[in-house]
Amino acid sequence: MVKKTIKYILVVEDSKMFTRILKRSIESVKQFKVISVENFAELKVLLAEKKHSFFAALLDVNLPDAPNGEVIDYVVQFDIPSIIFTGKLNERFRNKIYTRGIVDYVLKEGRSNVDYVVSLLNQLERNRKLEVLVVDDSKSVRTYIRKLLLIYQFQVQEAQDGPEALKILKENSNISLVLTDFNMPKMDGLELTKEIRSIYSSQEMAVIGMSTFGNNQLSARFLKLGGSDFLTKPFLEEEFFCRINQNMELLEHIRELKYLASRDHLTGLFNRRHFFEDGNRLFEQQKKKQSTMAVALLDIDFFKKVNDNYGHDAGDAVLQQLGKVLQEEFSGKDIAARFGGEEFCFLLCDKTSEQALLELQRLAARIADLTFVLEDDFEFKVTVSIGVFSGREGSLQSSLSRADKALYQAKENGRNQVILAE
Ligand code: GH3
Ligand code: MG
Ligand code: MG
Repeated sequence: MVKKTIKYILVVEDSKMFTRILKRSIESVKQFKVISVENFAELKVLLAEKKHSFFAALLDVNLPDAPNGEVIDYVVQFDIPSIIFTGKLNERFRNKIYTRGIVDYVLKEGRSNVDYVVSLLNQLERNRKLEVLVVDDSKSVRTYIRKLLLIYQFQVQEAQDGPEALKILKENSNISLVLTDFNMPKMDGLELTKEIRSIYSSQEMAVIGMSTFGNNQLSARFLKLGGSDFLTKPFLEEEFFCRINQNMELLEHIRELKYLASRDHLTGLFNRRHFFEDGNRLFEQQKKKQSTMAVALLDIDFFKKVNDNYGHDAGDAVLQQLGKVLQEEFSGKDIAARFGGEEFCFLLCDKTSEQALLELQRLAARIADLTFVLEDDFEFKVTVSIGVFSGREGSLQSSLSRADKALYQAKENGRNQVILAE
């Protein structure tokens, strides 16, 4: 797990009560920490100190020493994404905020608006990791959309036509969203969407179409081809952000579900199902490349005794610790998974049988070196047995059963050892 660093949120608000409510809600998200000031004078002192780098700011536009939103221009100079609080909504003011680089405005009434602020902050945090590709033959449209996306902290790439967009997508698998125009030279938005959908499913990438002509037929055709959503130009910035956010949220949920479905809940390692899904694919790839690979099975020795002697929780702690070690040891292309119970399996790529054997012997030694401590300071250790098969023929399944035979042999020979299958 990646450790999350603290993100400081600046609150400029003269009502102590509202600040308290905001602080409580915002800080319910672990990595957010609020730093608040009550007026413009305090704000200037705080920003001059340069002690904190602020992730975002929440600004009241009506302060005793700055009654007309003077804080907005001041904070925007420091490149801090800002959300504005206002008592009542004024259309002129509303139209101005996006041109000044403000993320959003929030009416200062009711509990749900405080929740909305927290969800906005979460969106900004998430968006920093998301890449968006803007496809439009008009440079000025691309520039305008890029500016909007940057306010919401997205990473932005641009393409001036379909072929260029496809080239960028081919080289960069991190893009989550494509915003595409319809009328473009070389390839129109419909064709581009069709091409994208032949590579990426709607669960992997969102495609939002934009068109000036915005007739119903066009949007229907686009959605039938697998488009995720549709915007008619010119659009309200608020609608633009709402649609993007909904689509990103959906992708995020799907990713989360996929992640959970592929993991073992106790150790965080891949589960058996994922091992076979990814493992079969990788096995065939390696075979095609004529590179050797090793398939190994690891089983903890006398694990039943750990449970019997020290309790089931101690057994779980051993499995979790082992999961951490395996996650550190196997990265990149190799796959490590919990096969079930106290059994783990690995697929090691591009290694000779000697290299695989040495690596697994080192792993077994590292595990044997671990010390587990119980609540009463009692310490114990565990050992493991490993069976490994190395080759480039057969299937993942047949390699696994040969590794399993070698594991059985390791157990028979007295455990705490690695056996390479003949
Ligand atoms: P061997 O050296 O022959 O492998 O002996 P063993 O005791 O490790 O093997 P056995 O298969 O007899 O016992 C495995 C034990 O693992 C039995 C089961 O209760 C325990 N176990 C399986 N899954 C879990 C789990 O998730 N948590 C805990 N604490 N124990 C588990
Ligand atoms: Mg065992
Ligand atoms: Mg077992």
